[in-house]
Amino acid sequence: MASVMKRTLTLVVSVVIAATLVRALSPVALAKGDQPGRVTVFDGARILDGNGGAPIENGRMVVQDGRVTTVGPASAVSIPQGAARIDVTGKTIMPAMINVHAHMGYEAYTTWGARNHTAANLLDHLQREAFYGVAAATSVGSSPVEMSLQFQRDQQAGKFSTAARYLFMPGMAPPNGGPDHILREATNELHVINEVATPEEARAAIRRMADQGIRHVKMWVDDRGGTYPKLTPEVYTAIVQEAHSRKMTVHAHAIQLADQKAVVAAGADVLVHMVQNVPLDDEYQALLREKKPYWATVISLGDPVEVCNDDPFFAEAMPAAVVEKIRANKQRAGLTAHCAPPSPNAANREKQLAQNFPQMIAAGVKLVLATDTGIHPGHTFGSGEHVELARWVQLGLPPAQAIVAATKTPAELMGLGDLGTLAPGKRASFIVLNANPLENIRNTRTISDVYLDGAKFDREAVRRKWREPR
Ligand SMILES: [Zn+2]
Repeated sequence: MASVMKRTLTLVVSVVIAATLVRALSPVALAKGDQPGRVTVFDGARILDGNGGAPIENGRMVVQDGRVTTVGPASAVSIPQGAARIDVTGKTIMPAMINVHAHMGYEAYTTWGARNHTAANLLDHLQREAFYGVAAATSVGSSPVEMSLQFQRDQQAGKFSTAARYLFMPGMAPPNGGPDHILREATNELHVINEVATPEEARAAIRRMADQGIRHVKMWVDDRGGTYPKLTPEVYTAIVQEAHSRKMTVHAHAIQLADQKAVVAAGADVLVHMVQNVPLDDEYQALLREKKPYWATVISLGDPVEVCNDDPFFAEAMPAAVVEKIRANKQRAGLTAHCAPPSPNAANREKQLAQNFPQMIAAGVKLVLATDTGIHPGHTFGSGEHVELARWVQLGLPPAQAIVAATKTPAELMGLGDLGTLAPGKRASFIVLNANPLENIRNTRTISDVYLDGAKFDREAVRRKWREPR
């Protein structure tokens, strides 16, 4: 795995250098790339480097060719001769976030579905991620493989304007099983889901993915309340074993206690979702302490949508008519965006979340940022990340740990050796905030600027694009 990662990294590095040149020449680029050789110093900010330790107060970060060269207290870092100085006194810098679970390509705000799934729309979603401070985002189980591989090649070659880095993974389910009915309809149209009925089919599918250089795979283990076929233990065990023999990482969707136990016991590397209806038992907590899987909570997909509150942070990314429509919708219906009163089940759900979340963390699971955004316009790309962060803190996680789970840990999970923390050699991909998120996690929403690979992302250009008719 290490050698593959190193190779991939080298490729990405050389391609990005080329991409920087292309971007600098291209009139269609949204944001101009960092100028080669230019040294920039970000001076005076509180710096959260992504490792979760004490912040660097009055920090200084030196950036050259899109990468951090030095970071530390201003008193200990000298300003290189000829460097451009950007005064960020009083602000807070944190690494750009990494999202390990979304469903990209289908959302178009006024419509939703397979016909929206184009490279241009995918790029739009990745620009939304970048706008909100996300450096890389992962489309999980719902994206067509050939198109996604081509998009990655094109993005690495610098053919697109600046956006979050696109990551994806294929999904596996039994015939007619897997994603919720909304996603199922769209993915059926594009023949996206790898439907496998036997261990042999599962192993063959994994081998095909491995041969394409794919490092991650998702499987659904869920009967949707008895309405769907569910992967059998024989099949998902074969998926995990074959994937591990090919150095691949398995993300397992499971929402019921028994299914979560079973997939963790089978060796799934990433648990997706949280048990929200019953307490965790001792047996499961002991298993978690032993296996310590990564954990993609995606709690906020089940929450009331923030668009219901009068907050431009969420509303500005959407057509006004769509915001109005969501606010006017007082009917709760499955996965559609609404502003209905809380469900009768909400209080019980909160009680279970408040109990189960700290128990999962205490068991030593490795929390990673994941949103499940892309299913409806009320909970969507980039802004959804900030909602999930605040949810963790509301359930008892210290803000410093929430930031690590949004930066360093997901970078490690996704094999992004150049992202996740601010340290010499890492990409200068970071968010400049007007207020300190350690004091209040909702301060991650006070975005002043986003930098990707050392270049300021043109947030105003994205805002202008949103205001144009599609
Ligand atoms: Zn999902």
